[in-house]
Amino acid sequence: MSGLNPQQREAIHYLDGPLLVLAGAGSGKTRVITQKIAYLVEDCGFKARNVAAITFTNKAAKEMKERIGKILPKQHADDLQISTFHSLGVRILREEAKALGYKPRFSIFDSADCGGIISEVAQTVDKATLRILQSIISNWKNALVTPEAARHLVRDEHENLAAHAYLSYEATLKAYQAVDFDDLIGLPVKLFSEHPEIADKWQNRLRYLLVDEYQDTNACQYQLLKLLTGVRAQFTAVGDDDQAIYGWRGADIDNLKKLPAEFPALKVIKLEQNYRSTVTILKAANNVIANNEKLFDKKLWSDLGLGEPIHVTACRDNDAEAEGVVMKLQAHRFEHRAHFKDYAILYRSNHQARGFEEYLRDHRIPYLLSGGKSFFDKAEIKDIIAYLRLLTNEDDDPAFIRAATTPKRGIGAATLQVLGTYAGERHISLFQAAFEEGFAQRVQPRQLDPLLEFCQFINRTQERAVREPAHQVLPDLLKAIDYEAFLYDHEEERTAQTRWGNVCEFANWLNKKGELDGKTLIDLTQSIALINMLDKQNDEEVDAVQLSTLHASKGLEYKYVFLVGVEEGILPHRESTDPGKIEEERRLMYVGITRAQRALFISYCERRKQAREFVPCEPSRFIDEMGKEDVRFSGGKQDAPPDKATGSARLDAMKAMLAGNKR
Ligand code: ATP
Ligand code: MG
Repeated sequence: MSGLNPQQREAIHYLDGPLLVLAGAGSGKTRVITQKIAYLVEDCGFKARNVAAITFTNKAAKEMKERIGKILPKQHADDLQISTFHSLGVRILREEAKALGYKPRFSIFDSADCGGIISEVAQTVDKATLRILQSIISNWKNALVTPEAARHLVRDEHENLAAHAYLSYEATLKAYQAVDFDDLIGLPVKLFSEHPEIADKWQNRLRYLLVDEYQDTNACQYQLLKLLTGVRAQFTAVGDDDQAIYGWRGADIDNLKKLPAEFPALKVIKLEQNYRSTVTILKAANNVIANNEKLFDKKLWSDLGLGEPIHVTACRDNDAEAEGVVMKLQAHRFEHRAHFKDYAILYRSNHQARGFEEYLRDHRIPYLLSGGKSFFDKAEIKDIIAYLRLLTNEDDDPAFIRAATTPKRGIGAATLQVLGTYAGERHISLFQAAFEEGFAQRVQPRQLDPLLEFCQFINRTQERAVREPAHQVLPDLLKAIDYEAFLYDHEEERTAQTRWGNVCEFANWLNKKGELDGKTLIDLTQSIALINMLDKQNDEEVDAVQLSTLHASKGLEYKYVFLVGVEEGILPHRESTDPGKIEEERRLMYVGITRAQRALFISYCERRKQAREFVPCEPSRFIDEMGKEDVRFSGGKQDAPPDKATGSARLDAMKAMLAGNKR
């Protein structure tokens, strides 16, 4: 317990009831959670498997496991349940699938799979509409609104469409024995509400619950928390209202306000010392967030010294920005003998990463892109892996559905629905069901034929795949399903080219591995899953610059942060400048600033290339809000700060620089 302040120690030792730790960025909230887990297991006689911690992202879960691994003996650390709400949901559902009418090997559909279903049930192919419908349905699910109830909530045409699609969407998922990400939370809530004895079992199993980033839970997660902790209400939640940045995805800051009302015994502890950032960085963050309406009274101070001033650079355009950041990073790293992994480049939207990636690649600087898609997550690679998985295990239903319908071969959703229902009743896989007489009687011959043809194709290929080397089977498989033509039929030429290139790269890689180790395609398929996992595990050890969206950077810290594209229209986002939404954008800026430990470099462009044309840009209002003390401006047309008060601001900057040098 050494190295903790009195408030942190109090939070760790408090076990008399529900506890909320409410504090600003970098004040050691996550540290309280890690230390408290150790305390519960080592000093209070809790069994590691009875303690569960919930983080907001997989990355955070992994980080916490690493932190705990350093505190607890290995066998304890392995027993702990540290996961996201979603992976906890998967665990509950696997074990309790039967009570919900699911088989334990149900499939989890990703957003693209679900989009496909919605597109079919709503009979729309318009991508923009589809995205809107998907998000409306998801929001309803997160707010625990049933399809029946949704019909009464309809306010506009999109909601009307969504309400009509919702019921069929749910039915289709069920028929496929599949769940979506929202179900991973929603179904356990339903389960525990309808089966108190099952809730009881889980309450006894998870005797103490710790929740990080509590401010970003949604209604559904809040219910799950309540149902899991029961009347005993043994939990510690930590959070910061100023870092609530997932409102757009259904997170509800009211859950923070509700807590004291719904748990009258709730104790609230506040932490005030920030251990992460310099005084300069913290002051800028506090200045920005002071423009939001205050929910809770909080203080935050640091004794890490003033440190370097914040650098704000105006760039000619986005190319110049990317180049400037990469040059600055290299020089800075050299000067400070730092590692690449000490640096993060943070931005508002995923698409901003591209320009920086190019320059990093050109300068041979290793980088990791978080929040982006990994090679194995690409749709075309997932398509091919679906075939390989099906060859390995024909009972893999999600792979069956994906392979049977990609490319399209006359097996429609209606057929699969009948097949799914039949398989569910008989408790057999889709593949097995396809061959049964009972199923054949429920469909038309024109539905049955393509299905049987597909299954027989899988059978035939399977026989070859166990005997012959990969480089003989794989090209034939790709040819047989005519995947290249499928891509060119469905995508623009350039996209199709890229995607087909990826497939070839994947196939070559598999072939090479097969030849090297003398392995068949079946052997290799099993190792794909492992390679995938290993890649993810290795992430952290690589010395690489981190490229991340602001959303994905929550909870993390870096010695040096480049916050880029800080312009009106980007941060704040152009769709979020009205009074209802600007506060969440400001919190995003606050999160960005507070990721930095020692130095913060902010940049914005004076113009930005958009589809061949340059569009002029304004510096973000948030730059002004940081204040001018300890901020050094540079770059731009006249090397001027972003506002009109050129002279005095420059003087300020100069003073700040001199003051910084003295320190
Ligand atoms: P965020 O709001 O960004 O999630 P947080 O409140 O969870 O931040 P932590 O990540 O737990 O903060 O802590 C920030 C940094 O301060 C970490 O590097 C942590 O190890 C360190 N730290 C926390 N408490 C102490 C302490 N009492 N003494 C020294 N360092 C500390
Ligand atoms: Mg934290």
